[in-house]
Amino acid sequence: MTDTTQPGIHPAGGPPTRPFTVGLVGASNIAMTRMLPAFAALGIAVRGPYDNEPRRFRYWADSGVEGQTTNLDQLLASDIDAVYISTRNDQHLAEAVAAAEAGKHILVEKPMSLSVADAQTMIEAANRNGVVLAVNHHLPGSPLHASARRLVAEGRIGTLYSARINHAVLLPEHLRGWRLGAAPGGGVILDITVHDASVLNPLFRTQPVRVSAVGVSQASWNTARSRDSVMTIIEYAAGERGAPGLAQTHDAFDVPYPGTSMEIHGETGAIVISDAMTQDTPGTVELHTDAGVESIGVDSSEDLYQILIRAFLDASHGRGRPTVTGAEGLLALQVALAAEQSAEEGRTVRLSELH
Ligand code: NDP
Repeated sequence: MTDTTQPGIHPAGGPPTRPFTVGLVGASNIAMTRMLPAFAALGIAVRGPYDNEPRRFRYWADSGVEGQTTNLDQLLASDIDAVYISTRNDQHLAEAVAAAEAGKHILVEKPMSLSVADAQTMIEAANRNGVVLAVNHHLPGSPLHASARRLVAEGRIGTLYSARINHAVLLPEHLRGWRLGAAPGGGVILDITVHDASVLNPLFRTQPVRVSAVGVSQASWNTARSRDSVMTIIEYAAGERGAPGLAQTHDAFDVPYPGTSMEIHGETGAIVISDAMTQDTPGTVELHTDAGVESIGVDSSEDLYQILIRAFLDASHGRGRPTVTGAEGLLALQVALAAEQSAEEGRTVRLSELH
């Protein structure tokens, strides 16, 4: 589905003088493969990319995007309305703060930063400068997860007890770089568990309290011997109906089959989502109760990144809210950081310990 509204800049309510324009910060793989097509489909213009490693511009030679630069200030000083930040995770903080100070709305990749303090600095910079800060977690906006949240809110499974996410996948060969190494911001937890948290937090709608994770290195091709397979348990505070929640996730870079899924368990029923955590496949939602198994109709035809970008665009125009705000991105990050610390130290970590 393509948005037919005009996302442009409207002087005094008149017709748009130019399309809404996003500066690309990071000559990344995701920017080229996922975000460029999504921006184009929504009629959003792009400029850049900025990158501090000019060798990465070779990927962009035939992209049709103009304005490659190794000078971030130059991109920020140009005629752009927003930035999309998809550099390596340790670079997000400085770039987001610079963009906020330049008055540009910000869509930043997950994990938004590498510490609670850094994420808070980003949020404060956006608030201080009156710009939107959104985090590119594409899964919470998925119609599959929206439909599961609706079923839970309608009481269709009674009191929510637990959720289990299978997000063990095979990392494509061309992405087996910084994600596996010792560089800051790598590892399966900051890459995948953080996505799980972005889905679980708005499902439980209470504070994640403590996290326990165990991780190992399994893949023969993972010569860095970093953790490529992690299982995590998260406790959520008791909700309106009084029961604390439990979530369990399996995140891996080395599991080719059988694809991703999610189960949500309640007092009187369960929700089963197939292909729950993937970018492309349509997925299904089933409701299991005493009445049998009901297949829930979900329209999954729209690209998940387009859904998220449209909400970001609207929020940038003062309408609605981003799919994942800075505060929500921070909460997902906190769960991941607690999992990281737990796996490292071999103990359960409370979110209140993080800084
Ligand atoms: P990179 O841009 O570093 O890409 C990973 C690998 O792909 C690198 O080895 C890189 O090569 C190579 N590469 C980069 N651009 C291209 C291209 N245009 N064509 C072919 N290969 C290319 O990182 P990512 O894009 O994976 O991640 C960037 C940020 O986005 C991170 O913050 C990450 O967490 C986030 N992300 C978010 C996703 C989401 O769904 N929201 C999904 C994926 C990433 P080289 O070694 O030359 O740099």
